[in-house]
Amino acid sequence: MKTFKAFVLHNTDPVKTSIEEWGVDQLSTDGVLIKIAYSSVNYKDGIVGHSGMLAEWTPLIPGIDLAGTVLESTDSRFKEGDEVIATSYQIGTGHHGGFSELARIPADWVVQKPDGLSLRESMILGTAGFTAALSILQLEKNGLTPEQGPVLVAGASGGVGSLSVNMLANRGYEVTAGTGKEQEHDYLKSLGATNVIHRDELIDEEGKSTRSTRWAGAIDPVGGKTTQYIISTLSYGASVATSGLAGGLDVSTDVRPFIGRGINWLGIDSVRCPMSIRQQVWEHLASDLKPTSLEAELSQEITLEQLPTTFADILEGKVKGRIIVKL
Ligand code: NDP
Repeated sequence: MKTFKAFVLHNTDPVKTSIEEWGVDQLSTDGVLIKIAYSSVNYKDGIVGHSGMLAEWTPLIPGIDLAGTVLESTDSRFKEGDEVIATSYQIGTGHHGGFSELARIPADWVVQKPDGLSLRESMILGTAGFTAALSILQLEKNGLTPEQGPVLVAGASGGVGSLSVNMLANRGYEVTAGTGKEQEHDYLKSLGATNVIHRDELIDEEGKSTRSTRWAGAIDPVGGKTTQYIISTLSYGASVATSGLAGGLDVSTDVRPFIGRGINWLGIDSVRCPMSIRQQVWEHLASDLKPTSLEAELSQEITLEQLPTTFADILEGKVKGRIIVKL
């Protein structure tokens, strides 16, 4: 395969994207050459693809997730025919990524696909599923168990949110899903949510640092005033795992929930998560944390040609579940 098709970003003003035929020699020379089967679209891809922000240089093949089969490797940890997953690090921002038929990825960034997941399933999960699983594992490491009461998932109809709802429900948690999409209540219940509430109920407009407690734990891919509200309503000793900024950046609180209720604000980062933990999280995703509804409810499939409209949709919060890209 000397040439391949790729979705390419040119960071001009305005940003230009096109589907191009590239030669293999346009990729880096070192690492693992992968024939990509599937990629996926995450919120970060929306930012890169729509505005060029976060793209460290251009022309760049974006796409922060990819899964496929090894064609050749300069590193002995991988050989031709291995099925692998590569997400995070600088993939799709500072290194050519997954919206392409081929990628060459540094071996230190590549994970052997665990048994128990197909390549397609691994991309339905992708960075969003990885982040959901990491969030749940961190909450449990900090003491969360199903007997403690309701766990809130904010931004519930999105990628991190939908997968978190399903994984938590399968693990025996009572899940309250917070969403801005009235039309997705049945979808969220089908994933396992016991209660669905409107996201407006989860916004702190008054700047109160403590309120009546509601949650034994919370998954927070939203940020901003939603994080503020969650912190003010966590039960004694409970934790919130914050991963995102879909609803804003700034969080204003004070020390009272921390010193009076012993709560924990956990930061979740998928990008620089160490490889030893990364491998463990993928093992969980292929076994005890594997969602039950991966195909039916959680995903839709698109082609490279449909990426620009998908970027706009994800930034406007219109996307439900996960979108995978077939190569
Ligand atoms: P999605 O777009 O799939 O989901 C985001 C969801 O947030 C939306 O579906 C919507 O859910 C909700 N939302 C959107 N806009 C607003 C708003 N203005 N106010 C409140 N809620 C809003 O994105 P992902 O699931 O891929 O990512 C979610 C966030 O997590 C992003 O900010 C992303 O950058 C971040 N992230 C961080 C990672 C890390 O390593 N820290 C890794 C992966 C993602 P609803 O309509 O149901 O309310």
